[in-house]
Amino acid sequence: MSNDDTNIDEHGQKRDRRGEWRPERPVGFMPLFDWPTTPKIVAKWFFGVPGFLVPWYGVYLLITVIAYLFFTPEMARMQVLSAGWALEILLRNVVMVGLFTGALHLWLYRLRGQGRKRKYNANWMATNDKRFLFRDQVYDNVFWSMVGVLVWSLFEVGLWWGYANNALPFSGLAANPVWFVLWMLLMPFWRNFHFYWIHRLIHWPPLYRTVHYLHHKNVNVGPWSGMAMHPVEHVIYFSCMLIHLIVPSHPLHMMFNGVTTALGPAVSHSGFDELVFGDAAAIRKEKLMHYLHHRYHTVNFGESAVPLDKWFGSFHDGTPEADARFRAARTRP
Ligand SMILES: [Zn+2]
Ligand SMILES: [Zn+2]
Repeated sequence: MSNDDTNIDEHGQKRDRRGEWRPERPVGFMPLFDWPTTPKIVAKWFFGVPGFLVPWYGVYLLITVIAYLFFTPEMARMQVLSAGWALEILLRNVVMVGLFTGALHLWLYRLRGQGRKRKYNANWMATNDKRFLFRDQVYDNVFWSMVGVLVWSLFEVGLWWGYANNALPFSGLAANPVWFVLWMLLMPFWRNFHFYWIHRLIHWPPLYRTVHYLHHKNVNVGPWSGMAMHPVEHVIYFSCMLIHLIVPSHPLHMMFNGVTTALGPAVSHSGFDELVFGDAAAIRKEKLMHYLHHRYHTVNFGESAVPLDKWFGSFHDGTPEADARFRAARTRP
């Protein structure tokens, strides 16, 4: 069944002429900044299943703790910069991204485990397309993601070297348990705040043309597109880790910051509104939010933890009304 503007796909989802599907509920922000809000709403968002902590925050934290306990060189070795332990960190990070992003890609795009159910774009990843390295979107995206892992690992090695030599502001769990937990919980908000501003910076035309264009070659995104960036963008993107030069932290904070910065994009670029293993409503909103950024370029520079897009007028909530508003703004002389 179809008419001029829409057709119904194999999952009964309405797709427009360009094959786009949208969830019915608009994009929103985490309820901390939504108004009106109540303690009950905030508590439900925070502790609910799915919610802020479960599943994604918890998954990233678990991965960080395992990497910290079992796959990080001893502190004494890291006092002296050397290729040996630096390569161990690089290898651990390559494996981590390979398994995490690879698993999402395998399930959603290779096995097509949920078909096109809740997939925003009707198409799969591009092949035989000369815009991409190796004429293949996935190979291109994996290549640039791995360059990103190298940049992330360099930041991590430098910071570990600083901790091992007591050269960085340190705050331990035993001495400052409240700050330890609070800083851990604030991390997504710091990352969102940082990302919004660096993202606006790289949309400055000279930087967009030379650097950020590479990420935006991906209009139809998949898990590997998340970290497919120009190396200059990787440096700017992972510079959120430099906060640990200033803010008293435990190395676990630094690692958690790096791990979420490296793995988060695989989820936010998955191209699907909802993954079979259950997603937090907030994360679902975030995926559509960033998908729309790839679709329209000039909207949704940030993510859903901090509503900077709303405050600065670049927010697109995914509704037809917002579509019309931004289209009108673009055609205005
Ligand atoms: Zn993106
Ligand atoms: Zn962008």
